[in-house]
Amino acid sequence: MCPGPSVTDRYTFRTLAPELTPLVGKTTAELRELAANLGERPFRGGQLANWVYKRHAATVDEMVDLPAAFRAKLSAGHAVTTLVESAHRRSTDGVDKLLLHNGDGQVYECVLLPYEDRVSCCLSSQVGCPMGCTFCATGLGGFDRDLGVDEIVGQYLWLQRISPRRISHVVFMGMGEPLLNLKNVVKTLNVLHEEVGLSYRHMTVSTVGLAPQILELAKLGLPIHLALSLHSAVDEVRSRLMPVNHRWPVAEVWGAMKKYHQATGRKLTVEYLLIDHVNDTVDQARALAKLVKGTPTVVNLIPFNYVDTDQGFKRPTKERVRAFRSVLEAERVNVTERVERGHDIAAACGQLAGQHTGRFARRAQASTLPLASG
Ligand code: SAH
Ligand code: SF4
Repeated sequence: MCPGPSVTDRYTFRTLAPELTPLVGKTTAELRELAANLGERPFRGGQLANWVYKRHAATVDEMVDLPAAFRAKLSAGHAVTTLVESAHRRSTDGVDKLLLHNGDGQVYECVLLPYEDRVSCCLSSQVGCPMGCTFCATGLGGFDRDLGVDEIVGQYLWLQRISPRRISHVVFMGMGEPLLNLKNVVKTLNVLHEEVGLSYRHMTVSTVGLAPQILELAKLGLPIHLALSLHSAVDEVRSRLMPVNHRWPVAEVWGAMKKYHQATGRKLTVEYLLIDHVNDTVDQARALAKLVKGTPTVVNLIPFNYVDTDQGFKRPTKERVRAFRSVLEAERVNVTERVERGHDIAAACGQLAGQHTGRFARRAQASTLPLASG
């Protein structure tokens, strides 16, 4: 499929009146209550939900079957969304990446990923991330704040408005650690299921590995997909890559993941970033195979996307990736390799936001990928 134009950049900053309350993120029950509080019959709340989640209205004015007086009352204190688009990039292979903010200029990214058989999107759960993984542009940039439900659901709806096809799959692999913002992420999952009509089975939460929150999520029993960013099954190496491993080492976090599988019946995903001569050795592959054996798991190999981290991390050669993969396959581990999309628009975790805000000028410069020239 020809994705149309190459990279397009659009930067706008506009601050909305902060007193407006967003409708996006509210459940039908909450919208019914809102309608009642404005002196309307509660069924108007159902109409609002239909406009916001099914018809993807961007403004209250579009809701033409609501009485004009109600729309006027509603608009005085509410907006469908208070999000603002500050950049929009389209890659040559059909990936759209947006930077949004909520009137305060603290930007976060979301990505639309069309495939032949489905359309997926990648959402952020926080502005920045406090986990400090040493290979990650978002982690290196520090942490600003959690995103609200309206801001997370707002990313989905914004992407749906620009997608000609229905977005059926959602992954939390943008900025931030979703399990640090568990309450808002879980409400988002509920809203996407109940209001938008997405299947829980098409939602994936990716975590750095916070054992207590994994167990909390297991207790909820939602049939969502949980992916663990493992990146090494050897504590010494994992701790070098991910400070969280000092607190919850491999055995403990994998124990929590197994409980998640037992509680939900869902197959587990292990994300494994391959960094040249750091975690891509045959010994590392054997340790990984040993860990996951006996639990239904898919290992997703991710080639390291270059970020200048001061650690000299590099992407391994294709031969090294093949060798790593063949050790896993010989041990009968299910393996997939991430197909890279949107390379020309810096679609990897945290890169576009870093470039845009210029917060990490040196890193941003180093990771600026060539924008399609001609
Ligand atoms: N905080 C969560 C989800 C967001 S990160 C987590 O860590 O799982 C989403 C994925 O992008 C993670 O698997 C993360 O390890 C990966 N990632 C981060 N930096 C990357 C890089 N430079 N190259 C490739 N993948 C990267
Ligand atoms: Fe945060 Fe995930 Fe990046 Fe680690 S990889 S710093 S947890 S966003």
